Amino acid sequence: MAKGKRKAVEPLEVVAVNSPAPKHARLDDGEEPVIRTQTNGTNGHLLKELDDEADVLTTAEEQHAELNEAGANIEDDEDDEPIQSGPIRQDAPNEGYTDLYLDTISRTVLDFDFEKLCSVTLSNINVYACLVCGKYYQGRGPKSQAYFHALEEDHHVYINMETKKVYVLPEGYEVESKSLEDIKYVVNPGFSKHEVAKLDKEQKVSWDLAGRKYVPGYVGMNDIKANDYFNVVIHALAHVAPLRNYFMLEDVASRPQLAQRFSTLTRKIWNPRAFKAHVSPHELIQEVALRSNKRFQLTEQSDPVEFLSWFLNNLHLALGGSKTKPGTSIVQKVFQGALKIESQLITARADAGDRLRFEDADVKTDIMRYLFLTLDLPPAPLFQDERDQNIIPQVPLSTVLSKYDGRKAQEHLNYRRRYRLLHPLPPYLLFHVKRFSKNKFISERNPTIVTFPTRSLDMSPYVEPNPALHPTAEPLIYDLVANITHEAVRTRDDSVEGEAEKKVWRVHLRDKTREEWWEVQDLFVERVRGETVFARESYLQVWEQRRGTGGKAKAK
Ligand SMILES: [Zn+2]
Repeated sequence: MAKGKRKAVEPLEVVAVNSPAPKHARLDDGEEPVIRTQTNGTNGHLLKELDDEADVLTTAEEQHAELNEAGANIEDDEDDEPIQSGPIRQDAPNEGYTDLYLDTISRTVLDFDFEKLCSVTLSNINVYACLVCGKYYQGRGPKSQAYFHALEEDHHVYINMETKKVYVLPEGYEVESKSLEDIKYVVNPGFSKHEVAKLDKEQKVSWDLAGRKYVPGYVGMNDIKANDYFNVVIHALAHVAPLRNYFMLEDVASRPQLAQRFSTLTRKIWNPRAFKAHVSPHELIQEVALRSNKRFQLTEQSDPVEFLSWFLNNLHLALGGSKTKPGTSIVQKVFQGALKIESQLITARADAGDRLRFEDADVKTDIMRYLFLTLDLPPAPLFQDERDQNIIPQVPLSTVLSKYDGRKAQEHLNYRRRYRLLHPLPPYLLFHVKRFSKNKFISERNPTIVTFPTRSLDMSPYVEPNPALHPTAEPLIYDLVANITHEAVRTRDDSVEGEAEKKVWRVHLRDKTREEWWEVQDLFVERVRGETVFARESYLQVWEQRRGTGGKAKAK
C-alpha cells in the first residue's frame, strides 16, 4: 500500500484507554501539548476528537511520514498485520501512576558523552536514550527502535537527546518530574553568567554518583583509544577563560557541530553535578575525525600542536570568522597577534664570524599574523651514552624566546630572518616548543627541558616598542595557565632510545581558585606542586596576560 494511504488504525487505540486525550491523538514525535502529570481532559472532548476522521487520518499520515524521515524500518506489508494487538498508547499516565517506572532509571549506567547514534540504525536523527540501560534508540513512535526496545527489554523511560523531554514507552506519554532534572542537566549542563563568573573565584568541590570527590574543571578525560593528544588540547582550551566563557554562555545551536560539541564538552568539563568524575570527548572527536578527513581521530595518536592549529582554525570558521579579516571570532580575539619578519636573501656567504649586515642588502619586511609562536630548541648533544645517566640539557624560556627579540637572526634556506612581536599582544599566548623534527629517514626528538617561571613572564623584550599602544619600558606580564608535556615511554624494556616509544601526553592546569596546579593524564588527575611542572618536556604552553599590563589588548 502506498505511503499516506494507510487506514488510521493506530490512533483509534486511544479509545480503549481510560485517560484523557490531548487535542490531537497524536502518537508521533511532532509538536504536541505537554501533558502535565495531572489529568485534565474530558470524555466529551475525546469523543468529539475521534469523530473527526479527517484529523485522525492526517495524524496517521504525518506519523508515517515522520517515521520514514527518521529512518525507521517500516515494512510495506505492515498493514496486513493486526496492529490492534500492540500495546496501548497513552498521552498521560493513569491517574495515580505518575512516577511509575521512574525508579527503574539507573543513573550509574548513563553516559551521554558518546555520540548520539541509534544502537540499531546508527542514525543520529531523533535519538532517545533509554534511562534504564543507557543505550540510544531512534524515535519513540510505534515501530520505532525505542518502542521495540521498550517491548523487548521492558525498559520504559526514555529521554530525547535534543529536547531533553522524558517519555514512558510504549505508552508514549511525557513525564514531567523534578526528579529528572539531574539527568537533564547531565545531558547538557547549562551555566548562568553569574555561575561562570565564579568559576575562577570560588573553590568548588563536587561528588559524583559513586561518592568520588572531584573538582569541576579538573576532571579526567577518557582516552578511548589513542586520543590523549586530543584530550590535552581540549583541556588546555577549556581553561582559557574568555574562550571557555564564550562557549559556556553563547548559544551556538545554529553553528556547525564542531562549535556545538566543543561547547557541550567544555560545559561537561566544568559540570558541578556530574554523574561521574570524568568526561569522554567521543562526540567532539568523532566530528573532528569527520571534518578533518580522519587526519585527527581517536584510534591513532597525532601531534597536539598540529591538532590545535587545525582545531582553532576550524573553530574560528565554525563561528563565522572571516578568512581574511583579523579579529572576527573569539578564537582570534583571544590568541591572534602579529609579528614582524625581516628577511634578507643570502647571496654570498660571509665568513663564519661575520654578523648580519642588513644595511648592505635588501631587507624585506613582512607582517604576519599568528595564533601560536614556535620556539626552537638549541641542538641537543649527540651520542649520549645511555648507561652514564647523562644529564638532560636545559634551557631557560627566555633564551628560546630571544628568537623574537628582533636582533638575533635565524637562517632558513636562503634567507636570514629576524622576528619581532608587535603590539598589541593577544590576551593569551600559545608557545609551541619545537621538539620533533622529521627528515627523510627518521623523526627526531629533542629532549631539552625548557625551564620557566609559572608566573610573571615579561614579554616586553620581544615586542617592538609602540608608545601609542604600550608605555615604553613597562613590563608586559603573562602567567602560565596550561602546559602540555610530552614523555617518551618505551614500549619494550630492551629497546634503545627512540625505538618503540610511545608518546604520553599530559596537561598541567592552573586552578586559580586554589593557586594550585593539577596534572591530568587521561583519567588520572592529581594535584602537583608548581616545580614539577618544569621537570617534564614542555611542548605547548598557554600564557595569560595579567590584568592591567596589556595596554590595549583585552579579551572580551
Ligand atoms: Zn534499555
